[in-house]
Amino acid sequence: MGKPVSKVREAKLELYRRQGKIHAREVEGRFNQLRWGMVWFTQIIFYGLCWLPWESNGAVRQAVLFDIAHEKLYFFDLVLWPQDALLLAFALITAATALFLTTALAGRLFCGFACPQTVYTMIFSWIEARVEGDHLARLKLDQRPMDAQKLGLRLLKHGIWAVLAGWTAITFVGYFTPIRELLPTVATLSTGPWEAFWLIFYAAFTYIQAGLAREAVCQHMCPYSRFQGVMFDPATRNVAYDHPRGEPRSLRRQAGTTGDCIDCGICVEVCPTGIDIRDGLQYQCINCGLCIDACDQVMDKIGAPRGLIRFASENELAGRVAAPGMLWRPRLAVYAGVLVVVAGLTAWTLDQRSLLRVDVLRDRGALARETADGQIENAYTLKLANIADRPRRFIVTVDGPLTLKIVGDSEFAVAAGSLTPVSITVSAPVGEQLPGIVPIRFAVAAADDPAVRVGERSSFALR
Ligand code: SF4
Ligand code: SF4
Repeated sequence: MGKPVSKVREAKLELYRRQGKIHAREVEGRFNQLRWGMVWFTQIIFYGLCWLPWESNGAVRQAVLFDIAHEKLYFFDLVLWPQDALLLAFALITAATALFLTTALAGRLFCGFACPQTVYTMIFSWIEARVEGDHLARLKLDQRPMDAQKLGLRLLKHGIWAVLAGWTAITFVGYFTPIRELLPTVATLSTGPWEAFWLIFYAAFTYIQAGLAREAVCQHMCPYSRFQGVMFDPATRNVAYDHPRGEPRSLRRQAGTTGDCIDCGICVEVCPTGIDIRDGLQYQCINCGLCIDACDQVMDKIGAPRGLIRFASENELAGRVAAPGMLWRPRLAVYAGVLVVVAGLTAWTLDQRSLLRVDVLRDRGALARETADGQIENAYTLKLANIADRPRRFIVTVDGPLTLKIVGDSEFAVAAGSLTPVSITVSAPVGEQLPGIVPIRFAVAAADDPAVRVGERSSFALR
């Protein structure tokens, strides 16, 4: 009986993989709900956050904005400057380490539930199903020669995809150019060249990746699918088929002689990457859990316990450990340890971050200048960056192995979140017997808070 069943299944599955195009069957269940929950969660944030206004220092601006033109990143009250690159680097390493830890714990959870490729493929597939019908209707439509109805459905589907891709691109660019300023320029086709380029690029990228390429991105383009295997170990929990329980599979299930798998193929029909999880762990599997939802429904119908396909580790399936498997093992301890360290470094860097940045440039065009009253003067430009969200006055002092004093103003006002270059002249009496150039040190402190203080080295030329 085994051979005919296998042929039937293969013929059926061939339908779903025809010419490489996968029309996955929709399925209800807890993992499907969880996935849609993540779609709503991530997309409400993505499409909504750029519209959120934020009041800072009496002015209203976009709450989250990567202002490339002014080299600032606004994140609610936090304003990051290019000098904060280390903080951003730590934050990115923290995110990457959290991803590695999650992968070691439960395989490609990120891929199946939160990756933008997965999320947009779900949205685009949902639109396709609403326009063209369920997976069988779509398969039939694919095979049908082009006629007016098919053309109409195709135009409608691609039209909705294009609008969604366009809006996604506007939203994306709206995190770099304030979206309230961007939208009118899009409506009047008067965007700047860079905005136009990124709008077209990102719209085409979304349309192709989510509408046309879909699972091919996960299978052939995503580098993470290739190297994530090194994070797995026998205790990593992945979506897996309980082979000993399911086999020998048979359409005519008989207690004692066949396994619980009735070879219905529904787990394959619902798979967005078109694989058969019963063939074992495969790099194409994104751990979405839809085959679990499908198989659980089949098990309910035939009166067998759920979990023929489930999240399980190699150790659990081999009966070496009881579910849920070892949580504490060397690999996890290393990832968790690194995560704690880099997250701590991120928090510490943020906490220690100075709200004042100072760059000192000595005026090299005019070195030392001797004045009529017996002083030697050097000119400097100090770039004072006030990172705080309120205007401040800063007091500049200078010291070194000379009798140094500042000629003229030594207190300067700097607007909130801005950089102001100020000119400073430092003088020393003629006749101090020192080498031609001596090191000096500027100290800049906020007038209202001496704790906001920065020291910066420079040099003083005596001749
Ligand atoms: S859904 Fe379950 S019973 Fe049906 S083929 Fe897949 S593993 Fe077997
Ligand atoms: S095999 Fe199952 S978990 Fe893996 S991608 Fe397919 S449906 Fe998702």
